Order: sequence, then C-alpha cells, then structure tokens
Amino acid sequence: MYIYNHKRNKFWVKNMKQMKKFFQASIVLIMIIALLTVVIGVSILKFNKIFFGLLLSIFIVFILTIVFMLLITSYIIKDRKINKNLLKIDFSMIRFIFPMLLSIAPILRIEKNDLRRIFIIVNNKYVYSNTYRMDSKDIIILIPHCIQNNTCGLKITTDINNCKKCGKCKIKDLLVLKEKYNIKIFVATGGTLARKIILDCRPKAVIAVACERDLMSGVQDVRKIPVLAVFNKRPFGPCFNTTLDINEVEDAIKFFTK
Ligand code: SF4
Repeated sequence: MYIYNHKRNKFWVKNMKQMKKFFQASIVLIMIIALLTVVIGVSILKFNKIFFGLLLSIFIVFILTIVFMLLITSYIIKDRKINKNLLKIDFSMIRFIFPMLLSIAPILRIEKNDLRRIFIIVNNKYVYSNTYRMDSKDIIILIPHCIQNNTCGLKITTDINNCKKCGKCKIKDLLVLKEKYNIKIFVATGGTLARKIILDCRPKAVIAVACERDLMSGVQDVRKIPVLAVFNKRPFGPCFNTTLDINEVEDAIKFFTK
C-alpha cells in the first residue's frame, strides 16, 4: 500500500528542478558520446574490426552507466530507500561522470550549481547509509568566512572562540554546538586552507558548510573520510552574510557520534 509521505514529497518538489537539469545534461552527454562513437567507429571500421568492437563495447558500458546513474539518483531525489551497495556504485559513477556533465552545462545554459546540488545530495545519502560511532573529537566542522556578519570586526578566522556571541550571525549557534559536543570548528577561507586543516587535524569525518561549488570540490578532494555537506543559505547573494540551518549541522554531529 502506498503511504503518502509529506516530507518525502517536499524533498522531491524542492529538488525536482535540479533533477530535470541533471537528466537533460545526461541525455545530451549520451548524444555527444554516441556521435563521437559513430564518427570514430566509421573511420576505424575499414581498418580494424576488433577496435570497432571494442569502441562499441565501451560505448554500451558508458550508456548503461549513465542510465543506472539516472535511475538510482532519481530514487535518491525521491527520498526512497535504496540498497547501500547500489548507493556506493552510484556515487562512484557520479564522481566519474560529473566533471563531464559540468563541462557541457554552459552549452545547455544549465546552472552548474543545480547539477552540483544533485552531487551533494547523492554524497550525503551515501554517507547517511553507513554507520559510524565516532568520538566527537574526531570530527571537524568547516565553515566559510561569509557566515560571520559583515559588521563584526572580531577575528574569528584564526579562532572561532573570539566570537562574543552577540547573535547577529550563526557563529554564535555554532559555538553553542562546539561547547555542547566538544567538537572542533574551523573557518576555512578557501579550498587550500580547508585541505590544510584536514591534513593537520586528520579527522575521521568532516561536516562541511559551504555553497554548492565549494562543497562539491571539497567532497571530490576528500576521498578517504566521510564528508557530510550542509548547504549554506544566501539571502543577500553569494559570499555575503550567509547563514545556515543549525539543526542540519547538529543532526550531522548526532549521526556521526550516535
Ligand atoms: S555572533 Fe559572534 S561572529 Fe557573529 S556578529 Fe556576533 S560576535 Fe561577531
């Protein structure tokens, strides 16, 4: 019996636009690869039938990969329950195919962030499908500098504890979480610094708050440990007085430490 799930439906509606763009880009990618296969295939068919067969096999595997990726990802966006191994395969495929999708996005006038959002949702779903029982001291939270209110002159980039908890921005709420869970929080002013923090701290898991672009490059960089990504909110546009849903960060901490 089908049970209407309001939460699930909301999640689907919220990400439906991005899923359509993801679907569109994937279909165009298939067409490009098909065209290339025909062009290359016709020119080599006269000389070597084995190479032609090999090329055709690669093409078929590629198509099947994309179809599988689209199917599993649409299930993820519909917030359906999926086997953990299928999720793992899907995430590996997405990691491989995504750079190609992003490179054709401008030709199709697709916002790259729409595609990146799908990547992040798949990453989070995969991480959430696993079980971790970590100590909170083994987890770090990385946040962008733009979360700090622009009128605040306190130097929180070097030490978040310099915040006076005035409440004008979410740094205050993050400090509350830091004290409650005894967790390390760092302000990463860029990808290079984020990588350095991870190398220095050697955490077992990362909770990263950022925009779609930074989250995706972070997840692509950090392959050996789980990264739960939390989208920042940008009511005043990018990189200015951004904010976040503190419950999402706390849920991520609880998940890793349960
Ligand atoms: S909450 Fe902290 S960081 Fe944010 S504006 Fe107030 S003092 Fe500055």
